[in-house]
Amino acid sequence: MTRLPLALPLALPLMALLAACTQTAPTDEAGNESGNEAAATPASVTLARLDCGSIEVSDLSVFSVAGSYKGVDKTLTDSCYLIRHGDDLMLWDTGLPGDLVGKGQQGEAPMKMRLDASLVDQLAALGIAPGDIDVVGISHLHDDHTGQLAMFPNAKLLTGKGDWDAITAAKPDQRINVAPYAHWAKDGGSVEPVSGDHDVFGDGSVVMLDLTGHTPGHTGLKVVTPGKTYLLTGDVAHFHANYDANDVPTWNTDKAASVESLKRFKALAEEAGATVVIQHDPADIGLVPAATASAK
Ligand SMILES: [Zn+2]
Repeated sequence: MTRLPLALPLALPLMALLAACTQTAPTDEAGNESGNEAAATPASVTLARLDCGSIEVSDLSVFSVAGSYKGVDKTLTDSCYLIRHGDDLMLWDTGLPGDLVGKGQQGEAPMKMRLDASLVDQLAALGIAPGDIDVVGISHLHDDHTGQLAMFPNAKLLTGKGDWDAITAAKPDQRINVAPYAHWAKDGGSVEPVSGDHDVFGDGSVVMLDLTGHTPGHTGLKVVTPGKTYLLTGDVAHFHANYDANDVPTWNTDKAASVESLKRFKALAEEAGATVVIQHDPADIGLVPAATASAK
């Protein structure tokens, strides 16, 4: 695996690791609702989950500054999301590297990774071409979130400014795989480094949340659909146990900030009455409709 030697050190130190939803409006060819509402009507918003792989962790202790989970194993999921906002299509995170497809489990303990289908192929099944994606939001710069970013060069990239500064530094940290960002960092791709919270479409329905600590520019995402508000964690927590305990991974760039971000995330979720989706926890896969289902 050419990319794995790079990916693994990252994924390890970085790995901490994501369904469908809706707000009203006319539907598109993929078909949610139909009908034509007035221009003043909020755009229809849906959220759907795409499968971006799995990560088998043989020892979860690296996910705990408190020293928990020694010797405990767990298979994490790797989630990506498709958001439809009116006629705009947005991806949230891009999962494990696409060159893992068809190779079975790759990598070495404590983390082995697997990807069965690329994002491009999953989107194609929905009638969506890579060039149809208008916006890609990345929760943070780790390989298990940026793996297939390069497949969407036409999209505007949204990323936390702290991460963007790390990627575009004169000498980036060797653990950071900057390759997926090359189009935006060097070749003129459209990019917007985000500071603080960022209202993606200007109507409050899709908002990147400033949750620094896991990485310098780590973010989560709020998605407001007609019947439900979702808060996607990014990697503010990787599974329910560390979410509940306010425990954070040993490799986070700022552990104190990570805990504060986790507390902020919980407060925002309570305030919004939101469904919390821990992107890497397999237990939360069913909280968001699979993209195939939402397209009906
Ligand atoms: Zn992750």
